[in-house]
Amino acid sequence: MPKHDTVIHWFRRDLRLTDNPALSAAAKASEQVVPVYVLSDWKKDHAWTGSIRQQFLCGCLDSLAKNLHAIDSRLILRTGRADLEIEKLIKETKATAVYFNRDYDPYGREMEKKVQAVCARHHVECLSFKDRVLHEAEEVLTGDGGPYRVFTPYSRNWLTKEKTEAHGRLKSLGPAKRIPSDELPTLEHWKLPATDADLPAPGEKAARERMKDFIENGRLMSYLQRRDIPAGLSTSRLGQDLRFGLISIRELYTRCSAAMAEAKTPNAHKSIETYIKELAWREFYMAILWKYPEVFEEEFAPEFRGMPWPGTDKDFEAWSQGKTGFPIVDAGMRQMLATGFMHNRVRMIVSMFLTKDLHCYWKQGESFFMQHLVDGENASNNGGWQWSAGTGADAAPYFRIQNPWTQTKNYDPEGLYIRQWVPELREVSPARFLAPPKDGKALAKGYPLPIVDHSEERDRTLAIFAKHRGKH
Ligand SMILES: Cc1cc2nc3c(=O)[nH]c(=O)nc-3n(C[C@H](O)[C@H](O)[C@H](O)COP(=O)(O)OP(=O)(O)OC[C@H]3O[C@@H](n4cnc5c(N)ncnc54)[C@H](O)[C@@H]3O)c2cc1C
Repeated sequence: MPKHDTVIHWFRRDLRLTDNPALSAAAKASEQVVPVYVLSDWKKDHAWTGSIRQQFLCGCLDSLAKNLHAIDSRLILRTGRADLEIEKLIKETKATAVYFNRDYDPYGREMEKKVQAVCARHHVECLSFKDRVLHEAEEVLTGDGGPYRVFTPYSRNWLTKEKTEAHGRLKSLGPAKRIPSDELPTLEHWKLPATDADLPAPGEKAARERMKDFIENGRLMSYLQRRDIPAGLSTSRLGQDLRFGLISIRELYTRCSAAMAEAKTPNAHKSIETYIKELAWREFYMAILWKYPEVFEEEFAPEFRGMPWPGTDKDFEAWSQGKTGFPIVDAGMRQMLATGFMHNRVRMIVSMFLTKDLHCYWKQGESFFMQHLVDGENASNNGGWQWSAGTGADAAPYFRIQNPWTQTKNYDPEGLYIRQWVPELREVSPARFLAPPKDGKALAKGYPLPIVDHSEERDRTLAIFAKHRGKH
């Protein structure tokens, strides 16, 4: 006999039926699971999200609702504060337990505590599960039992830890309860404007196809050679799928390990190792945010707190619209505006450009990325921005400033990426993307001249950082 008649499963960043620990446990422990997703009720402008990611979320919820319907269950949608909505549901359904998968960012944690308090008040069992990561922050600690501040020793330890196997897809959650549900949301729910961004297909099925395609069609095996090339499909493009929990990290890892056994060349082997290391970066940043939630408010490195960032609104505006006159920077920003995705190499280039060439505060860029990335994720985004600004955990040293022209030469020498995303430059010779125009003339009609001189701004940055460090 199951322990409970009814258990509420609170869906969060785990919008799938396959290998979902909390959902499986709920199904095992009860006659009937009430699957609920609580929609936030903020309206219009939001510093941390925007139409692109919410549009993707709408599609994922639609797909989840269909998947649940196919097993005779029903997704219940509610709007408002999760703890208050779950409290109402406990009363309506007489549920005797609430299960959910843990979230690791400070907002998620805060809400978990509130939900736990609601359950305690109603004498309802409240169980949380590890799902989003292979290893939680508390599992990967230094010899002294403290958190790591540097990636390499963290990843060494992370790699040696035993990894949990993935489980299969759920077949039943018991019959659907007849209780009211809100409608599936559209952008109108948050009063957000429509978006025509070309987004990846939402939902578990599409995400699983992307995972399969990446692993089985040779891209995983050639990841090492291609991952830094921004043109074409050179990386896995699974960021949004991990962000919304459309695929399980255990399954992704298990499949990569199985591919390792099949890898026939040292390059293929190294590619898979490199890819798995990227998954470790993701968990490193989650661990940093877990242990040092203050990184949301200030620089991880204390010596750079309170440093001036004298960038102007005008320059930030040019950067955000992809109109800086630096082709690689503009291509990256336009790719993100058009698709919600930007290649990792270019994320590094544009973020370093904003902070080191334009001297804008990294938090401005962090927020802009969160508003536009379909895979926007607090921990990795904060980690990426602080890395580029030179202020973060294991960040690029502040004096190592990437030159956007050299980066172009190294990673987009033929201008394939630039010409894809900056149509004004389609007819321009790629050789001209490798240095500022010598004749002082714009590369094309309607395309701006570089808004700054990289080497001058580099010197200015070095002076700002050195002066501020001197004060400590
Ligand atoms: C300034 C900046 C901001 C970033 N913001 C985000 C963000 O909001 N969300 C996000 O998921 N990633 C972010 N990243 C990391 C990285 O750019 C993306 O994870 C990657 O581009 C997603 O594409 P992919 O799935 O094809 O990556 P792949 O190269 O195929 O990597 C596979 C997965 O590993 C993880 N990963 C890869 N690189 C990193 C990294 N450097 N840090 C953390 N995780 C990584 C991601 O989950 C990614 O999906 C940011 C990087 C920078 C420099």
